[in-house]
Amino acid sequence: MKKTLTLLAFLSLLLNGFSQNPDSVFIKTIFDNALTSRVAYHNLEILTNIAPGRLVGSEESIVALKFLEKYFKDLGADTVYLQEFKTHSWACDSSSVSILKKKSREIHLTCDALGTSLSTPPSGIEAEVIEVQGLADLEKLGTEKIAGKIVFFNRPMKDTFINTFAAYGDAVDQRAHGPAEAAKYGAAGAIVRSVTTSLDDYPHTGSSRFPEDVRIPALAISTIAANLLSQELKDNPKTKIRIFVKSHDLPEVTTYNLVAEIRGKVKPDEAIIVGGHIDSWFNSPGAHDDGAGCVMSCDVLRIFKELNIQNIRTIRAVMFMDEEMFQAGGKAYADFVGQSGKRPYLALEVDEGAFTPEGFSVDAPDSVVNKLHAFKSLLEPYGIKYIRKGGGGVDIYPLKNLGVPLVAYVTDPQRYFDMHHSGNDTFDKINYRELNLGTGCVTTLIYLIDKYGVE
Ligand SMILES: [Zn+2]
Repeated sequence: MKKTLTLLAFLSLLLNGFSQNPDSVFIKTIFDNALTSRVAYHNLEILTNIAPGRLVGSEESIVALKFLEKYFKDLGADTVYLQEFKTHSWACDSSSVSILKKKSREIHLTCDALGTSLSTPPSGIEAEVIEVQGLADLEKLGTEKIAGKIVFFNRPMKDTFINTFAAYGDAVDQRAHGPAEAAKYGAAGAIVRSVTTSLDDYPHTGSSRFPEDVRIPALAISTIAANLLSQELKDNPKTKIRIFVKSHDLPEVTTYNLVAEIRGKVKPDEAIIVGGHIDSWFNSPGAHDDGAGCVMSCDVLRIFKELNIQNIRTIRAVMFMDEEMFQAGGKAYADFVGQSGKRPYLALEVDEGAFTPEGFSVDAPDSVVNKLHAFKSLLEPYGIKYIRKGGGGVDIYPLKNLGVPLVAYVTDPQRYFDMHHSGNDTFDKINYRELNLGTGCVTTLIYLIDKYGVE
């Protein structure tokens, strides 16, 4: 009997030994911490409250930097500093769009200027509207029909795409390039249907690219406003509108990326970067885009500290400035590390909102992708469906030239563009569990990269 019991005990130990892979056990500890902490969630609430509309060059952007700088210092990070650089910026003071009806009646349309729209005269610009479905229509219409008018780009984001990022990519050329193209045909201004999955009354802004010599006033109107204007134009093609923008350029701005690290115990020169962008559009609290990415990245350092992880490599959080307009922070950071000669080991960006985790995409040679893919089974219990080749992130992209492997954290994309670049991107849209699950996934992947390397 005693012999049988001993044998059973031995077998159970053996079986447990197999099921209790030490990495799985420790990863559970990481998730237990991530899922029960309110720190990231609370940080995001504060960030969106004290620094909404934190576009580069704004006071709010500095408030945001100071807040997270203090967070890292209080956390006891080994190094915390602001990496200074100079860039140009732009600011919107006010804007409006109105349909001009008979007997001086007006219908106000919800709008925001696009970055970097030119100002109109103080009295605005009144003109007829020419509705188009895309850039190709401009060539067909030609200067004769476009000159002096306001071009209205009204092709919606397609609902039939399963991945909303693909639908965004399919529609965003109207906002990114439409106004500059319309200007070439002599348009007096441009308005763009908000690039969003949502039918609501929020304008969704974003950057519109202008060559130096061609710039016109350009605005986004809400999807509801776009439908209304389109109907007015069907009823009366001669409908006039008035657009007004007051904006100004900031030719030289001194600003910063925020960097904080926990030094590596064995290979301190090999830094694993985790980060998001601290700026947000002037019209948006930027809760999902990208306050969430920032507080999650901050939380990776917190979890490493609290669990007393003896990281081999340096774990470095970077809060990039100015992703939204000129991507100046990402470029300045790549220049900065390039000049120092200390190439980061790997960079991971969190900039797809705090939604349910889906996977990681990797912009690196196949050998690195395969190495990271091998970690997938450890993350599957927490919702990670894939680790595969794909894009990195906008802020870390310039590091690619230095040969740094890039990774992007990918979330369920269905709701992201409801809020994106609008006043609807508020803290109440953040789900505490989804945010924390994401932090757990990102922290775990970084833990495994640090422990096993990617070569
Ligand atoms: Zn973003």
